[in-house]
Amino acid sequence: MNRFTIIGGGIAGLTTAIALGRLGYRPVIFEAAPALKPLGAGLALAANAIKAFQKIGISDTIIRTGRLLDAFSILDEQGRVLTRTDSRAVSRKFGTDNFTIHRSVLHQALLSYLNDSQIILGKRAIGAEQTPDGVLVRFDDGTFHQTDHLLVADGIHSPIRQQLLPDSMPRFAGYTCWRAVIDGSGLDLKEASETWGRRGRVGLVPLADQKLYWFACVNAPAKDPRFRRFSVEDLRRQFEGYHDPIPQVLARTRNENLLWNDIMDLKPLRRYAFGNLLLMGDAAHATTPNMGQGACQAIEDAVILADELSRSKDVPEAFRRFEQRRLKRTHYIVETSRRIGQVAQLESPVLAGLRNRLFRLLPAGMNERRLETLYQVDF
Ligand SMILES: Cc1cc2nc3c(=O)[nH]c(=O)nc-3n(C[C@H](O)[C@H](O)[C@H](O)COP(=O)(O)OP(=O)(O)OC[C@H]3O[C@@H](n4cnc5c(N)ncnc54)[C@H](O)[C@@H]3O)c2cc1C
Repeated sequence: MNRFTIIGGGIAGLTTAIALGRLGYRPVIFEAAPALKPLGAGLALAANAIKAFQKIGISDTIIRTGRLLDAFSILDEQGRVLTRTDSRAVSRKFGTDNFTIHRSVLHQALLSYLNDSQIILGKRAIGAEQTPDGVLVRFDDGTFHQTDHLLVADGIHSPIRQQLLPDSMPRFAGYTCWRAVIDGSGLDLKEASETWGRRGRVGLVPLADQKLYWFACVNAPAKDPRFRRFSVEDLRRQFEGYHDPIPQVLARTRNENLLWNDIMDLKPLRRYAFGNLLLMGDAAHATTPNMGQGACQAIEDAVILADELSRSKDVPEAFRRFEQRRLKRTHYIVETSRRIGQVAQLESPVLAGLRNRLFRLLPAGMNERRLETLYQVDF
């Protein structure tokens, strides 16, 4: 039987290992981190991701640990609604729902379907060569691993992708982002929201067990050292005057729980398949988080790859067919999400005012049609 090796034990790598396990394969995952620790903040898992989990028979576990999301709104600084989208009404047309989940809870749920011996920690891949026998992977500790087929799922900074496609450098989106998960009890937030203001954008996303995930994006130069040192107190000053419960949410956040990153994506690639090697997840199509689709697309990748492998014994051919099915959709998401970010991050009072007036006039059907495109999957 073909040997599959996966580089990266993130959402793409773990879901792919489960999906291939359903076909009788037992891929091994090499993960750079020395230990599997609870990590990250919150995630939206849209109906298309839940559909993908259904396809590989694990949606019940995910749904049990997540929180149903009915709707989301875009608000102005005073908390007035610019648009409200009933995402549940749309997802129901596709026989499923949208959920939110803590990233570490999702990781635990995925890991529960894998055997410990399938994940080898502390192995950072730095390169890969195609050989007559398959693919030879090189690690930063000087060791090598030979495999028949390599699935590269090591995220946006993937060294193997950069070796294959030297121009594929991550591109900065123009804003930086803080995230945290706090105790949300008493705040009574039932729906997700984003507040678009001139000093930045704040998102509030309820999670299960009365937890609340929030994020805040501010326009900035890349890797600005001033923001590296930003504390909760600085964020309170940044968003002073924003509507309730944003001040209360920040007041409940502890500095040690703040996560900070510049927002990056990957300019759409022309290829994901390279003979016996395939790029997947953020390594192939990292997107800005504005549509909440990065992880959802990684999950779709896993299911579509398994679908193609179930149709063809010729693995490079299955990789090519995967590429054909994935390029257009992932390119659409990367480019649309980038444009949404540019609109959401407008600072000019005139342009932001115009945008807000326009958004108030938009028919709800427009957002719902965009969601239909997202939720419509081809598996
Ligand atoms: C602020 C923010 C909010 C987001 N919100 C959402 C959301 O609401 N919904 C959504 O769907 N998506 C969201 N995303 C996107 C989502 O986080 C990513 O798309 C998703 O994590 C991609 O999964 P992945 O497994 O491809 O990559 P990653 O999550 O980056 O995982 C890669 C794994 O590979 C390991 N690794 C890295 N390099 C190597 C190497 N050289 N060798 C071996 N292992 C390596 C890493 O340690 C990691 O475990 C958000 C992203 C950000 C930044």
